[in-house]
Amino acid sequence: MTLEARCVSCRYGATRALEEVSILAEPGSVVSVVGPNGAGKSTLLRVMSGERRPDAGSVTQDGRPILRSDPEWRRRVSVVSHRTGLYLGLTAAENLRFFAGLNGLPRRGAAEVVAESLASVGAATLADRRVSTLSRGQAQRVSLARALLSDPRLLLLDEPFAGLDDEAAGLLEGVLAARRDSGCTVLLVTHDLGRAVRLADRIVVLRRGRKRYEGAPPTDPGALVAHLSAESSQR
Ligand code: ADP
Repeated sequence: MTLEARCVSCRYGATRALEEVSILAEPGSVVSVVGPNGAGKSTLLRVMSGERRPDAGSVTQDGRPILRSDPEWRRRVSVVSHRTGLYLGLTAAENLRFFAGLNGLPRRGAAEVVAESLASVGAATLADRRVSTLSRGQAQRVSLARALLSDPRLLLLDEPFAGLDDEAAGLLEGVLAARRDSGCTVLLVTHDLGRAVRLADRIVVLRRGRKRYEGAPPTDPGALVAHLSAESSQR
């Protein structure tokens, strides 16, 4: 699935969160969007997932406008954001079985798919835990397992490493690389420069709502650090 934003601008009142940002995410690639707090990364992800309409510009999926109500979009696209969307009163496995059903996965075999998905992010032992009893990092693992359930063709991830310990973060890195290698389009928003660079086929740096850099990940991330720290020194 190809996802493209063209000249997208977004405002919150007087705040210009995004200004004429264009991004192309192609199948079988990871695009990492990095930048300091307030750069517009989450807004970009919200716009590219169809959660928010841009005030100007367009977002298309395979050349067509995004239609979030389209069952195919819901089945093929997974979003991980700050809100896990999990039901606190249900166990991790119950949550995943519920979402597997919504995604149209047949009941038969769902238990295996759920178990595999939890195991892929090191959350197998959390299957029978009620989500309300999980730590932030544990809930994040379950949220990621949910996103990976239905073999998505497009993964949109907002700070997916936040709250994860090194082991879980390493597992996730491997899972995302494997999904990319199987043709999935991955758009990753993170301030974890090391992981962003390791995973990415393309890096986009946002600062104050504008795209400041776009290209292949540098072998020396110093150039990116310079782009990012320029923002801090202006504050
Ligand atoms: P990032 O994810 O890079 O930290 P955001 O996209 O969250 O950046 O925010 C970009 C800018 O938009 C910031 O100045 C932020 O304060 C502002 N902003 C984000 N969400 C809202 C909102 N719901 N209402 C008002 N301003 C917002």
